Amino acid sequence: MTAVTPNTGQAAPAAPAAPTTPSVPVQLTLLPSRPAGTASCTEDLLLPPWEAGGGYGPGSSMQDRAPSDMPRQGEIPAEYRTASDDELQERIAAAKAELADRVVLLGHFYQRDEVVRHADYVGDSFQLARAATAHPDAEAIVFCGVHFMAETADILSGDGQAVILPHLGAGCSMADMADVDSVTDCWAQLEDLYGTEPDEQGRQPVLPVTYMNSSAALKAFVGARGGIVCTSSNAAQVLEWAFERGQRVLFFPDQHLGRNTAKAMGIGLEQMPVWDPRQPLGGSTAEQLQDAKVILWHGFCSVHRRFTVAQIEKARAEHPDVQVIVHPECPMEVVDAADASGSTDAIVKAIQAAPAGSTFAVGTEINLVQRLAAQHPEHTIFCLDPVICPCSTMYRIHPGYLAWVLEELVASRVVNRIEVPSAVQAHSRTALERMLAVVPLATPAGAGPRNGSAPAGTEPSTTGAAQ
Ligand code: SF4
Repeated sequence: MTAVTPNTGQAAPAAPAAPTTPSVPVQLTLLPSRPAGTASCTEDLLLPPWEAGGGYGPGSSMQDRAPSDMPRQGEIPAEYRTASDDELQERIAAAKAELADRVVLLGHFYQRDEVVRHADYVGDSFQLARAATAHPDAEAIVFCGVHFMAETADILSGDGQAVILPHLGAGCSMADMADVDSVTDCWAQLEDLYGTEPDEQGRQPVLPVTYMNSSAALKAFVGARGGIVCTSSNAAQVLEWAFERGQRVLFFPDQHLGRNTAKAMGIGLEQMPVWDPRQPLGGSTAEQLQDAKVILWHGFCSVHRRFTVAQIEKARAEHPDVQVIVHPECPMEVVDAADASGSTDAIVKAIQAAPAGSTFAVGTEINLVQRLAAQHPEHTIFCLDPVICPCSTMYRIHPGYLAWVLEELVASRVVNRIEVPSAVQAHSRTALERMLAVVPLATPAGAGPRNGSAPAGTEPSTTGAAQ
């Protein structure tokens, strides 16, 4: 389930014994102190989040239009904004030690290292949600990730547990590209077109499938209509499940994951129209929609959209033995040109399993790529994109906010709690449980504890441990 998916159907070829020179610096560095000469997409990355302005903030999503109702983070006390980096690190460690088992700290692969080093678990969004369920006695789960991840943790964790997002503005520009109103309007148009009667095999005219990277409200939308959630590592199995129950699938919000997955299953591009919510029938004709197998919402990830075929060609020209691995949120032509594609966990595992001396060009978020490069000095690992441009919203989880929420917990105060309303919880849990029934995560590899023993169903990871 978590294995990298080679485009050829074969395992990625073994790398050469001799390392080659990376085209970009690979040493682990904090982005604000990046090596001289390394370009970044904006100098605003040097600013702490409280000085970086509105919208999604600096980074890959800075050109995306943020919704007007996006949660905003209030100002945190000056002591956290003026503390030195070293002081913040000491305060986080001290608060964490004092809280001990009262808190579980989860860190996404894409978080900056000065946050990840404090995490009890490091992994992708679903692995971390599972890790949260392994500590039912913890009072609080501090989720160093983005909003939809904290929502999922709240849905899956115990009623009395508080899930905390250190920065309320840490959303996800892709998840925001599909809102409930637009999807509900789309659904009404599709029902008008297809009707609601199942065919002779009992399949609905259309079944909704949402990527994990979506709001709890959309997961509930899907759960209430017979649909299901998928992740980047189980999208193919989930689509197979959906086609047993639906003649077509409405897939949101990431068009690229939907297209790459359906194409690998043999579905033609002409049967995958993109739904633009600003146009009648999403911009397609009724005939095109009648022939559709997968209707793709128009969303995308601004991190993974940065990767290009030209970058792959350059990497191959400079490193003839390079293995190019990209995330399936990348555009189709990039996935097609790569040696392999896979989820973040699959990328991590492919690199861990490679023989020493391998060379990897990786198409995913820069914090993970730089961490992998530092953890695997036996390999040459570099990011396909030579310009440093992290996920804007992940980058908002600055140590100042982490120190603040932890010290508030020490003082028995819960701040920045993420709570999914109970009416939304019920249907969203249904959609998540359908996914678990299709693809049980008996070994949700990667969400390894940094300290202590692994909870049932997880396995230790070196990904976050070797800082
Ligand atoms: S990397 Fe992309 S999908 Fe993930 S949180 Fe950032 S914008 Fe959203």
